[in-house]
Amino acid sequence: MTIDEPIDEPIDESIDGPIDGPPINNFGAALRRRFGGRIQRVSIDAGFTCPNVDGAVAKGGCNFCDNRSFSPSRRVRLKQVHDQLSSGIVTVRERYKKVAGFIAYFQPATNTYAPVEQLREVFELALSFQESGAPVVGLAIGTRPDCLPESVLELIEELGERSYVSLEFGMQTIHDDGLTWMNRAHCHEDLINAIDRSRGRGFECCAHVILGIPGETHEMMMETAAEIGRLGFDAIKLHNLYSVRGTPLGEQVLRGEIKMMERDDYVKTVVDFLERIPPETIVERVSGDAPPDFLIEPKWCLRKSGIRQSIEAEFAARGSRQGSRYVPPEIPPSERQVPADNTPDAIRNQIERRGRLPVLKMEQG
Ligand code: SF4
Repeated sequence: MTIDEPIDEPIDESIDGPIDGPPINNFGAALRRRFGGRIQRVSIDAGFTCPNVDGAVAKGGCNFCDNRSFSPSRRVRLKQVHDQLSSGIVTVRERYKKVAGFIAYFQPATNTYAPVEQLREVFELALSFQESGAPVVGLAIGTRPDCLPESVLELIEELGERSYVSLEFGMQTIHDDGLTWMNRAHCHEDLINAIDRSRGRGFECCAHVILGIPGETHEMMMETAAEIGRLGFDAIKLHNLYSVRGTPLGEQVLRGEIKMMERDDYVKTVVDFLERIPPETIVERVSGDAPPDFLIEPKWCLRKSGIRQSIEAEFAARGSRQGSRYVPPEIPPSERQVPADNTPDAIRNQIERRGRLPVLKMEQG
């Protein structure tokens, strides 16, 4: 369990600048507006694996992902999910006195890659959690764009009718060369198919983007920025590429073959990026990091609040804000055609056709 910090550490709104209000539509403030108080996310590992690890679409996983624990045969009982939520909430309460509610954040692995009935069990368990004085107000579900068949989207839509649900799409970049370099084993077309079938169904669609992929120019990253508004994402998470121990990327960085983005370059690129997305898109994160013992490079990403302050200062120096260079697409996202579901058969088999996974088979409680 980890506490997901950035959600409730809003960008400092006190910095004076030539613009009115904060330069970024940040997540902490958006949640306060919606729920009337501080909302904190608690990270849950539901024991799922990933089709990029178990061989359904590839093996080995993404080059930056420490997926050694994502064995296809690993097991997590519903009781353990309950206990993670319980202990996570205790930890949050020790750190923050006033918390109005919690979001159960299904973070590691691919959290829509299991039979739908079992996905329902685990998501319902989280939403019904009642040990704490503050409620679980919703779910955040991290997944790959090729793991969203209609059966899963219908479940998420149903949950979204009664709770806050954020579906986090691993987009990373719109450039297939970058996706191939990361060994994502999906292409950008898969992301387009998934968001075009998800938008406007009552849950929040969040794009997870990585900046600093080797071979990507500034212009290419700005092309990814333009896609956020073109596809109509409700929210975005920006991460700098970082390397951790035990991953192919980490090995390459240790051998000196790959360099991570410098801090100043990253700050300017984030501001350039945010200027090009719609002003109403919720910004959930502006950088990523890993536990210090596992992080190889860059070390600067450990100082998250300093990065946020530098981003605000860059906005102030430019006199700009999120969306100031946004160009709306010719076809508004709401008018885009809804395509046929292109979920790969190997993934659909795991979600819709095979029997229950042993994972989560145990008795609850
Ligand atoms: S798709 Fe996600 S869980 Fe799977 S290997 Fe890549 S980063 Fe890890």
